[in-house]
Amino acid sequence: ESTDGPPVIHDRVTTSDGTAVEVAANIGSAAEARAAAERGADGVGLFRTEFLFLDRDAPPDEDEQYGAYRDALAAFTEPVGGDHEDADPHEPPDRVIVRTLDVGGDKDVPYLDLDPIENGFLGVRGIRFSLGPGRALFETQLRACCRAAAGGPLAVMFPLVSTPGELEEAIAVLDDVLDGLRTEGVECARPELGVMVETPAAALSAAALARRVSFLSIGTNDLSGYVMAAQRDVDAVSSLADPLQPAVLRAIDRTVRGAREEDAWVGVCGEMAADPDLTRLLVGLGVEELSMAAPAVPAVKAAVTAIDDDEARSTAEAALDAETPAQIRSMLSPD
Ligand code: PEP
Ligand code: MG
Repeated sequence: ESTDGPPVIHDRVTTSDGTAVEVAANIGSAAEARAAAERGADGVGLFRTEFLFLDRDAPPDEDEQYGAYRDALAAFTEPVGGDHEDADPHEPPDRVIVRTLDVGGDKDVPYLDLDPIENGFLGVRGIRFSLGPGRALFETQLRACCRAAAGGPLAVMFPLVSTPGELEEAIAVLDDVLDGLRTEGVECARPELGVMVETPAAALSAAALARRVSFLSIGTNDLSGYVMAAQRDVDAVSSLADPLQPAVLRAIDRTVRGAREEDAWVGVCGEMAADPDLTRLLVGLGVEELSMAAPAVPAVKAAVTAIDDDEARSTAEAALDAETPAQIRSMLSPD
């Protein structure tokens, strides 16, 4: 149990009107999954697997990755603090969403020999790397994911997708990997699939992406950067790379609407999901899952329970009509 901050809530939460909102954690290792479970996270909304590739000279092999994914799942299926006998059997199981390797842009892995321009923010990064020079690594990672999915609710999502074609290609690689595992007689299962919405193209094509998967997870860190054409690590433009820029909120709104047409669910796993002052706005926009650094989970769960659905929807509508982040912040600040 945590020793500081708001009380840990292990149960699933709903708004005061009964709308379910999943509050999950962002992790970079299986050990962090255990810490997240202790903070009451409803599973993992973003496993940043690039962390498994850092601080070493060569990529982790299939068995090592399989172990990490299986251990992350175990953190949510094994009892925390021995109090799970009375867990509600009607609650959905806590899932672990593994994001496939996301390198390039600001994410370097020295032994992969990435080039600052070729693999920069507008270059071969995320899924583009996995479908190109990183194809063998991608296949190995998907084998590990499909093996781990045989043991529990593991989902896979792809980063930095911009077109339905890229998504189809990624899904085809996954299906080939599954065929291979089955031919070899290896225990495996097809994971639930999702796409990260991090580019304006993905937000504008949300329905076409959602048709091919079960969920969309909005990466508001990159989405803000690309919608505003401003890098978060460049001080002079950091106020442009703000998820409360109305244009970014409109991209989120567009994503939710596109997903709804196809009965896919939508989460947010960028940093804005961790801010309890923004929970009402995101839920009002129709976001059903929020994933964040584990320490933020208790405060965001508490914020969800305080939401009035009608009020949240009006807040979202007003924010979509605003012209500046400051106007939106003043709507959200407690009066
Ligand atoms: C994002 O871009 O919002 C995201 C969650 O991915 P990352 O921060 O790992 O780029
Ligand atoms: Mg990102």
